[in-house]
Amino acid sequence: MSILSVDNLCKNYGAVQALNGVTFSVPKGSVFGILGPNGSGKTTMLGIIMDILKPTAGSYTLFDTTPDENSRRKIGTFLETPNFYHYLSAVRNLKITAAIKQRGDEDILQVLETVNLTERKDSRFSTYSLGMKQRLAIASCLLGNPDVLIFDEPTNGLDPVGIAEIRELIKQLRQQGKTIIMASHLLDEVEKVCTHVAILKKGKLIAAGDVNEILANDDIVELGAPDMEKLKNIIGRLTGYNDIKEHDNLLQLFYPVGTTNLESINRYCFENGVVLNYMQLKKKSLESKFFELTN
Ligand code: ADP
Ligand code: MG
Repeated sequence: MSILSVDNLCKNYGAVQALNGVTFSVPKGSVFGILGPNGSGKTTMLGIIMDILKPTAGSYTLFDTTPDENSRRKIGTFLETPNFYHYLSAVRNLKITAAIKQRGDEDILQVLETVNLTERKDSRFSTYSLGMKQRLAIASCLLGNPDVLIFDEPTNGLDPVGIAEIRELIKQLRQQGKTIIMASHLLDEVEKVCTHVAILKKGKLIAAGDVNEILANDDIVELGAPDMEKLKNIIGRLTGYNDIKEHDNLLQLFYPVGTTNLESINRYCFENGVVLNYMQLKKKSLESKFFELTN
């Protein structure tokens, strides 16, 4: 089952094309990152899914059916930052949120426990750190135990400790079987937290799928030899690498991370009549991969 499936979604704000034919689908149980630089259309995408915005064209389904009130009730989100009362405690604030969202308030203590705010549940909101405020916002999404959670840049503005807490919480929610859809402009966040990703650039989908496939780090082996033509010939018959390129009069072989065996490449060349005069293993960083994808 797909939790969310968007099909050729477009959104124009006047002359601005915020989304331009975006198609992907979110598998059940995934942590699905919508990744892209600022202005790439992430918030617009989430706004459409939550029926705050109407698409200009295209369509989407929730739980494989046409979206309605009922399907949206299975989704917890805080796209609009909840207005918590500064002089009220976490418990009192969540009672109000539950009433507004028409969710039961019997699980307030439970959701506060999940976001690790039990000890401070009776303190005034105004005494909370930014990270605690953000965790309370997440707690408000958890009211009524929705299967799906949607977060827009959930770690924005937090310090490193606050960021680590939110990321840990997201992983924990996934272990409870929830599907999480989150927008982020941070590549390393998506890499650390998400199982799947859709990359947006200026409203267009660049790539979508399994994080390990889309953001895979490659090992690059650079080879040089006095006779490059002969090297190219024999390397064509070698197996194990995904891609081959020429760069600065060297051959670059792209291997999946950790599968490279320099000794066997060297031996293969020698046994096939080529003596290498250059051989180096390089790591291709995620940043360069992202740069390649978005430029
Ligand atoms: P992101 O969340 O990835 O930063 P947004 O979805 O907020 O991107 O914005 C995508 C594009 O749409 C940007 O160019 C932004 O300026 C534009 N945009 C967003 N909201 C509006 C609006 N209400 N009116 C006009 N332009 C908008
Ligand atoms: Mg945004």
